[in-house]
Amino acid sequence: MSALYGTYARSELAFERGEGMRLYDQHGREYLDFQAGIAVNALGHGDPHIVGALKAAADRVWHTSNVFTIPEQERLGQRLVDATFADKVFFTNSGAEALECAIKTARHYFWAKGQPDRYEILAFTGSFHGRTLGTIAAGGNPAYLEGFGPALAGFKHVPPGDLHAVREAIGPQTCAILIEPVQGEGGVTAMSNEFMQGLRAICDENDMLLVLDEVQCGYGRTGRFFAFEWSGITPDIVTVAKAIGGGFPLGACLARGDVADSMAPGTHGSTYGGNPLATTVGNAVLDRILAPGFLDHANQMGQRLFWHLQQLAQKYPDQVLELRGKGLLAGIKITPPVRDFVARLRDDHKMLAIGAGDNVLRLIPPLIVSEADIEDAMARLGAAFDAIAAEETASAVAE
Ligand code: PLP
Repeated sequence: MSALYGTYARSELAFERGEGMRLYDQHGREYLDFQAGIAVNALGHGDPHIVGALKAAADRVWHTSNVFTIPEQERLGQRLVDATFADKVFFTNSGAEALECAIKTARHYFWAKGQPDRYEILAFTGSFHGRTLGTIAAGGNPAYLEGFGPALAGFKHVPPGDLHAVREAIGPQTCAILIEPVQGEGGVTAMSNEFMQGLRAICDENDMLLVLDEVQCGYGRTGRFFAFEWSGITPDIVTVAKAIGGGFPLGACLARGDVADSMAPGTHGSTYGGNPLATTVGNAVLDRILAPGFLDHANQMGQRLFWHLQQLAQKYPDQVLELRGKGLLAGIKITPPVRDFVARLRDDHKMLAIGAGDNVLRLIPPLIVSEADIEDAMARLGAAFDAIAAEETASAVAE
């Protein structure tokens, strides 16, 4: 019996070693990783550049405090500012904390402008922003809110894709719109460029902030540094985590300068956020992501993945109902229960993937995936679909 909280339905599988796209369990068995620690291991496992950076950092100084200057944090912040829309960055340890910072920043910006009543944030059904009390309220999923007392006030939810519903929901208290450009956990739903552009226009017309949660879809996963870039818009606040640390806990809230400026000394903080170890690794990850050709590779592989998934969908029309997502954040709505299917893939076909809402199988490989890896994954998915079909035929015959 495990001493741990039972908050996860954990598999007994434990990994001992990883290399690139592959993980090895305690018995030496090899697994093809199309889960990447839930979109975290953007560079796969054991990338020599980030491993080397972490080892060197461990010999210097592990932790100081944000009351001192942390040179690696300053450097990572400046590089993110140089590479993106942002003028200021706050570092965190996780995605949910990045969202907490974004929510506080949006509210505080209006408070500082003398509009303390503008604290409401419009978010979307099917979204996921984390598991803190604030972020379960932002996500609005009743299953995650149940049993935890009154939800944090100040969030409203409308269906994604419906600009009319967005306009209708805006009131005098609304200060921001919060959205994942590609919903991950909720079911791998990519927002259209028109919808994202429409949200930007609504924010401009109503003096509201556009806050994007790119914790899962950002940092190269859709083939651009940020997923919002496909729509040509400029957001006001963006949250990142997961890939930013390549497996080391790190997150960040990026913001426009005047928006961030309302967060004066004392308004927010974090003991660990952006500590020397984390930001040294973050810089090493960024070296690789910004290296010439890296994002182009991710983009090409995203397109190849969708092409191969289309072939798979044609071959298994009874089991594949719909393809979703963008780039290397791909979803397959399937007929077999997704939880069972993920376990079957893992145990029988040695491939790691993960479920999402709406019975969607989520494929989120490291961004270093090759077309040969994609073909390998398609073969394993096909074998799993074949096995299910064979079992169904056998049980029909038995009846
Ligand atoms: N936002 C999105 C879009 C996510 O996918 C997640 C986690 O899956 C989070 C926020 C929360 O991140 P964390 O689990 O690091 O707190």
